[in-house]
Amino acid sequence: MAQEIRTAESLIAEAVAAFEKRFGSKPTVGAKAPGRVNLIGEHTDYNDGFVFPMALPMVSVIVGSPTTTGVCRIETLNSGTDSPRYTEFPIDNLEPGKPKWCNYVKGVAAQMPGTVPSFDAVIISSVPLGGGVSSSASLEVATYTFLDQLDGVDSDISVIEKILKCQKAEHEFAGMPCGIMDQYISMTGREGHALLLDCRSQQGRLVPLSDPSVVVLVTNSNVKHELTGSEYPTRRRQCQEAAKILGVPSLRDATDAALEAKKSVLDEETFMRVRHVISEIKRTDEAALALETEDYNTFGKLMVESHNSLRDDYEVSCKELDQLVEYAMEMKNEGVFGSRMTGGGFGGCTVTLVTALNVDKVIQHIDTKYKAGGHKATFFVCPPSEGASISLYERNRPY
Ligand code: ADP
Ligand code: MG
Repeated sequence: MAQEIRTAESLIAEAVAAFEKRFGSKPTVGAKAPGRVNLIGEHTDYNDGFVFPMALPMVSVIVGSPTTTGVCRIETLNSGTDSPRYTEFPIDNLEPGKPKWCNYVKGVAAQMPGTVPSFDAVIISSVPLGGGVSSSASLEVATYTFLDQLDGVDSDISVIEKILKCQKAEHEFAGMPCGIMDQYISMTGREGHALLLDCRSQQGRLVPLSDPSVVVLVTNSNVKHELTGSEYPTRRRQCQEAAKILGVPSLRDATDAALEAKKSVLDEETFMRVRHVISEIKRTDEAALALETEDYNTFGKLMVESHNSLRDDYEVSCKELDQLVEYAMEMKNEGVFGSRMTGGGFGGCTVTLVTALNVDKVIQHIDTKYKAGGHKATFFVCPPSEGASISLYERNRPY
């Protein structure tokens, strides 16, 4: 069975109740921002390439109130992160520290233009934490959207600038040198659409994905291999070094011919990494066109090619993700168009495009086979959803 996805309203209600209990008043400001799933275009964003994400129905929510004490007090209602779940920090001396989860909030506060007042807040998220569907960006973007409403903050900057500030928060306070995709889609996602994002120009093109006969199935492997921490920066560095050797500003500009020409000076591993990036950027462009024409077979084929390339050339998959894709593709004649790992890799989620009619059957098949290997997967049927908003609240009106 697919997981029931909690509504933003119910998350907000829980956060508001927790806020009242802890702080003894009603919060006056709130915001929410979604996680994302990348349909195709993996490890291309930091190479100036294309990515093709959509915003998820799972969101991070933050509710709170500005204060005059100079000290921020914040609680997360999510387990599955480091303790303690309640912490305090001074607004005029923002530095990364412990607990780690709070660094995403602090990091954004540190980036805000203008003067951020201190605040009390409670956060809660329905995005699986550490599952490769960007709970981190959703928390950053929700925090930005929350703080943007407070007096003293200059909210008059462009959306792109806001996105870049959230990305910088992740770089500087979480130590994760991520590309721009996650924050971009969390901020700007549109219901019923995926977003083809050109990470070089930072321009996005919305592509409708609202055909009721197909659904996006996100499957959480519920495994996360520890090496993730160092592998991502390593890949990023390899790509930068390869671009230098190829004499291009970024791998976006690399071609198959240029790669072949440099084969003798590149070590085998770097060669494979570049081959993935070049082919993945091309696939992503093609996949967006395929989706635009509702050519799901082509889209699905490109998804599988993407997975294979991530597994073999980029080497960021793992046994569990490969199994989930394999089990999904065993249902090719039962409505599955394609499946691939999504996100950074080494665990986390797969994404599968499947007919709405057969999705339950497909879930059952994957679930049974994955369980036989000793693991439990979680399934989410995900309509493309809206980006960040304050829509559920009126500014400065207590709930
Ligand atoms: P992903 O972005 O794929 O979910 P990351 O490792 O980048 O994985 O981010 C997960 C981390 O983000 C968590 O371990 C936690 O520190 C933080 N985080 C995200 N959402 C929340 C939340 N609602 N409460 C506390 N921490 C959160
Ligand atoms: Mg993340």
